[in-house]
Amino acid sequence: MSNSELIEKSKRHLWLPFTQMKDYDRNPLIIESGQGVILKDTEGKSYYDGFSSVWLNVHGHQKKELNEAICSQLDKIAHSTLLGMTNQPATELAEQLVHITPDGLNRIFYSDSGAEAVEIALKMAFQYWRNQGVTGKNKFVTMKDGYHGDTIGAVSVGAVDIFHHVYHPLTFDSIPVPFPYVYRHPSGDPETCKNECLLELERTLDQHQDELAAVTVESMMQGAGGMRLMPHGYLAGVEALCKKYNVLLILDEVATGFGRTGKMFACEHEDVTPDIMTIGKGITGGYLPIAATLSTEQIYEAFYDDYTNMKTLFHGHSYTGNQLGCAVALANLDLFKKEQVITRVQENSKYLYRELECFNKLEHVGDIRQLGFMVGIELVKNKQTKEPFPFEKRVGYDVSLKMRQLGMLTRPVGDTIVFMPPLSSKRQELREMIKIMEASIQQITEEKYAQLETIKK
Ligand SMILES: *Cc1c(COP(=O)(O)O)cnc(C)c1O
Repeated sequence: MSNSELIEKSKRHLWLPFTQMKDYDRNPLIIESGQGVILKDTEGKSYYDGFSSVWLNVHGHQKKELNEAICSQLDKIAHSTLLGMTNQPATELAEQLVHITPDGLNRIFYSDSGAEAVEIALKMAFQYWRNQGVTGKNKFVTMKDGYHGDTIGAVSVGAVDIFHHVYHPLTFDSIPVPFPYVYRHPSGDPETCKNECLLELERTLDQHQDELAAVTVESMMQGAGGMRLMPHGYLAGVEALCKKYNVLLILDEVATGFGRTGKMFACEHEDVTPDIMTIGKGITGGYLPIAATLSTEQIYEAFYDDYTNMKTLFHGHSYTGNQLGCAVALANLDLFKKEQVITRVQENSKYLYRELECFNKLEHVGDIRQLGFMVGIELVKNKQTKEPFPFEKRVGYDVSLKMRQLGMLTRPVGDTIVFMPPLSSKRQELREMIKIMEASIQQITEEKYAQLETIKK
């Protein structure tokens, strides 16, 4: 099939996730293959995968060991169910996940996507209290601008206005608390910002503890809400408050897990152990849809009883514990050891930090936020006052289109440019990606600013 036919078909039949199809129709793109950190489209044009195919990819595309793991599993079986039975790779992976996650998380409940892992976490937390005869604790505290996926339960504990507002009538109410967004805090001081937010959380927990099942929070860095890094000590503070007020802590590591932030899991930066943790994205190296919800033995035990006492966790999906996915996840974890991925990410993060310096001199870069290989560059109209560009100028989106033209793919969150390259990216590759970002940001922000100034005159 010719490329133009393929594009025609995509426009005629597809409805893409998180996409205004009117935008797609103007700027269609069809990926054909990938190798290392490079993606190639059906016209033969190459792009750096600057967002790891939406925060998934770890070792690059076409990684030999991962391809082989799938092929050899396929010689045995592709899939059998996990309802009431298990399989080899799912069992072995569970043991390894328990081993690499914080002490105390001993149980693995599989699913197929991050949003499902969050749904399961919410049902687990809710039912944990019920199963013990506590009926009032059925609400969740969430962070403003938190993001946990797109299913209705996950949306109910999400708080990104632009995504979630329209679905509000469908959701259950949760109680939002401010997230410590240092750049936009009046003080601009991390310590003051952190203390204020913890105080607000404590007030909420104190007032509502008898009706609270859990607090949900993204670990260390809010992703889709705008790549916002917590000030040092905040997450540990959240953990301490949850303990003090007898509320469970659900930590969402879907985006931050598997080396992304320079630790295997971001909560290690603050030695935090949640009661429930959700993982996904990087778990299979970006190959197949596996996710999981981890819990402590204490939570698990609240569900363990005679069937007729009705304490079972009634949740499952057709493809839960899929063998191909679990086999490639095992191979992914082998590569973490064999290639010392965490050490390499830590070293290259320092390099990245220095290279990102170049953005400071750009007129419309307000803030650069980085934790490991998770980077957000917030663009503003006025650097001094931090005034954002008007929403309708679509600055972030247009910068990403410019980057695409120059050979790099990423998706902004609002006017924050996301840079999340595969963890395997070499320094030379990181440098070239940064050059593309720099040129695109400079050109587009200057153009947009000039347009706004002309309108004023
Ligand atoms: C991506 C993401 C999710 C949702 O994962 P899906 O696999 O896209 O459903 C949940 N939480 C966080 C923090 C995420 O970044």
